Amino acid sequence: MIDVLIIGAGPAGISAGIYAKRSNLNVTIIYYGESNLEKAPKIDNYYGFEDGISGVDLYKNGIEQAKKIGIDVLNEEVLHIELNDNCFEITTNISSYKSKSVIIASGNKKLKPDIDGIKDFEGKGISYCAICDGFFYKNKNIAIIGDGRFAINEADYLKNIVNSITILSNGKTINSDCNYNVNNKKIKKVTGENTVNKVVFDDDTFLSIDGIFIALGEAGGVDFAKSLGVITNNDNIIVNDKMETNIKGLYSCGNTTGGLLQICKAVYEGAVAGISAANFVKKNNS
Ligand SMILES: Cc1cc2nc3c(=O)[nH]c(=O)nc-3n(C[C@H](O)[C@H](O)[C@H](O)COP(=O)(O)OP(=O)(O)OC[C@H]3O[C@@H](n4cnc5c(N)ncnc54)[C@H](O)[C@@H]3O)c2cc1C
Repeated sequence: MIDVLIIGAGPAGISAGIYAKRSNLNVTIIYYGESNLEKAPKIDNYYGFEDGISGVDLYKNGIEQAKKIGIDVLNEEVLHIELNDNCFEITTNISSYKSKSVIIASGNKKLKPDIDGIKDFEGKGISYCAICDGFFYKNKNIAIIGDGRFAINEADYLKNIVNSITILSNGKTINSDCNYNVNNKKIKKVTGENTVNKVVFDDDTFLSIDGIFIALGEAGGVDFAKSLGVITNNDNIIVNDKMETNIKGLYSCGNTTGGLLQICKAVYEGAVAGISAANFVKKNNS
């Protein structure tokens, strides 16, 4: 049983790990996919680097720092979190873990495809969360836009609810084992009237559907949070000043909580979340 499991190895997750580990607890950080930090060519506004530092270097340094103090850092994709009997069960693409507390520090990457019509039909047949909206598509024909494990995981959830599922990889190759019907044509646009009802491909053929789920990249913090019943607002996880969510033992920090999307805020919130999670575990252990 892990004491504190952290999803994300960006500034928020690493900072949380450092503070939790200093409470002499058993801490694991799991990360997978790109961090926002890696996209930053040069950081000039963070304390202590007189000539700036590249985002890639700062990211790598953080991960090495965490490993050096004895944190288990695993490169695995978190697919799902469940809460059973006060214990969190975290499923990744490789294994599953049990933890007394969880800190969601997985950044704010709700990837939106650059496809004509997607924005117009958000909330009108286009959803970003199978667990939240799957119920509305009972016995309907749906498409999932995505090309990785996240898309297949959403399909696994929806398969017992909907009538049919087509995964639309939009010109990419599905990078995971997949037993679903896949259409890998490039998508030109999505259309409809009041709600979305058609996906039109580049060769002008089309697929009629009742709804579309977007599942690009990896599942994000908000997806995990929503599936656990965490209160969110505009895709930000709601936390108090101790970085506690409304679920006991579950914390969030960094870009997942919205506000100032900068490293300094992620580091600060990570520290608070790490201390709060450690206090929670120690109190329950005693
Ligand atoms: C182009 C660009 C330039 C920027 N420039 C600056 C700047 O100059 N100064 C500044 O202060 N800020 C800058 N930022 C913002 C800064 O990068 C972010 O605010 C910061 O990285 C947020 O930290 P975080 O830890 O919350 O999330 P992130 O750094 O995004 O880290 C998220 C972590 O979660 C992991 N993860 C996500 N999903 C999963 C999953 N399903 N399973 C396992 N792991 C997962 C990722 O691998 C990553 O380790 C910039 C951002 C961008 C995009």
